[in-house]
Amino acid sequence: MKLQDTLTRSQKKICPIDGQTYRFYCCGPTVYGAAHIGNFRTFVLQDVFRRTLETGGTRTLHVRNLTDVDDKTIRDSQAAGKTLKAFTDQWRDKFHTDCEALACLPPHIEPSAVEHIPQQIAMIETLIKKGHAYASDDGSVYFKISSFPNYGKLSHLDERELDLGKTQNTRANSDEYEKDSISDFVLWKARRNEDGENFWESPWGQGRPGWHLECSAMIAEYLGDSFDMHSGGVDLVFPHHENEIAQSECACGGHFAAHWFHITHLLVDGGKMSKSLGNMYTLTDLEAKGFTAMEVRYVLIGSHYRKPLNFTLESLSGVKEALNNLAKSAAKIASNMGNETTLPSADFGVFQPAWDSLNNDLNTPGALGGIFTGLREASKFTGKEAAAALAGLNRILKALGITLPEISKEITDIPADIQTLADTRWAARSNKDWATSDKLRDELSTKGWAMKDGKDSYELSKS
Ligand code: AMP
Ligand code: ZN
Repeated sequence: MKLQDTLTRSQKKICPIDGQTYRFYCCGPTVYGAAHIGNFRTFVLQDVFRRTLETGGTRTLHVRNLTDVDDKTIRDSQAAGKTLKAFTDQWRDKFHTDCEALACLPPHIEPSAVEHIPQQIAMIETLIKKGHAYASDDGSVYFKISSFPNYGKLSHLDERELDLGKTQNTRANSDEYEKDSISDFVLWKARRNEDGENFWESPWGQGRPGWHLECSAMIAEYLGDSFDMHSGGVDLVFPHHENEIAQSECACGGHFAAHWFHITHLLVDGGKMSKSLGNMYTLTDLEAKGFTAMEVRYVLIGSHYRKPLNFTLESLSGVKEALNNLAKSAAKIASNMGNETTLPSADFGVFQPAWDSLNNDLNTPGALGGIFTGLREASKFTGKEAAAALAGLNRILKALGITLPEISKEITDIPADIQTLADTRWAARSNKDWATSDKLRDELSTKGWAMKDGKDSYELSKS
């Protein structure tokens, strides 16, 4: 498999450093509310990446953290009148439910920031000892970015002609800041009144870790100083991942991540999602509108991860039909198998181009296109050939994490004469020959069948 690497801006081959297990880390959710479908674009694409590796026979070790302490979790837990733990546990559980519905495989390790405070304190101590961090008068600790000449290599800050020397007396205490204001960033935040009971003891007094530190500390714990891949949404490139590189390479040595996989943002109606515009959809919002989680997953993988995905409710409406068509074609191949059974196979057969697309920079829309092309070819197969095609189809669907909807037997067992009538009527309708189209619809109706017209195809049912 080949995949774009943010650091080198080139496509690199994916193979485990240790020759055995591909070890990768994904920045997980901040558990202060339900994740939105933008977050899920990132998590679903990371899931397809993992499934593709596993389908191709590579073992994986997937680590994804939970951010359960930061400015937002503390603020909102207090507003809700709950302890930080009770509040974040509730949103962690919701996240897990949504992930399961969206068919995202659970990570092998899911560490949380609160559970790794000692490791974070130890990393700060190492950074201070090595001259990469300093404590300020109020008991906060900052990373000194002028001590790390490579700072900015991931986001290519050098091309922005920013002079690291100028940052020496500026500091950012908040977790997020803009690219044009690079400054020393906070590793340990001294306790403030608004933190309430959410603080820990440290050599610098009471406080809590800065957001960037948790990933570095958990990566050191579970993946060591060098590992295969680090991933997240594109908003994390700067400053979050840049800061992780600085912390980890300075504290642990090593080369940190060998590959950087970033997913471009999902937009809604062409713009950024925002609560005030009322277009910040969660999975629950979409389910309430009658869509299934599998339909949402299909939309999320429907465009390439390096392009923005413009989400609209209309794009979701067409998906039910696409999934039903896939299910019908699969059922047709199954009925053409006769007495043959599908055996698990290492071969993709007519779905090889779909598999190749996935391995070519995780081209998910290419893979979906390849599935439809493969199905057209496979519809002519019978017996052993049909069985092999079905095995290939199941394999590629598993790599994409797509489960097909159940369709009623009536639909799969459409008599040949009815099918021909329907196809002829569809052709007449496509040619705007309304008279013939109406006549054939009546004829179908007399024989007990109804035809529902969609945008690109139709559905037949018993009337
Ligand atoms: P957060 O819970 O905000 O830390 O985000 C969890 C993941 O979702 C991170 O990898 C983010 O980069 C990613 N993310 C946030 N917004 C979007 C979006 N609109 N589209 C795709 N990914 C996003
Ligand atoms: Zn992170």
